[in-house]
Amino acid sequence: MSYEAGKGDKQRPTDQASYASNFDTIFGKKSKFPVQYKHEIKYQGLSSHNNEDWYVCVNCGAKDWIATGYGLMSQLSFYDKPCK
Ligand SMILES: [Zn+2]
Repeated sequence: MSYEAGKGDKQRPTDQASYASNFDTIFGKKSKFPVQYKHEIKYQGLSSHNNEDWYVCVNCGAKDWIATGYGLMSQLSFYDKPCK
């Protein structure tokens, strides 16, 4: 009985370590949000003429937009350069 409990205890840390490793692999390489480039993004509003969601960084004033509905925050050009 205690053997089964020990086995269960052993499985969890292994799974977690594996998950964490995958997490780092996936998001570490593909992440477009390096910590030093992190901007304070604030949603500005929808541009009525072209379905654009505008965002501004309250720290450095950078502005960019993404397509409403299917645009991704990671597409904002802020993240190509560091915040002030
Ligand atoms: Zn910024």
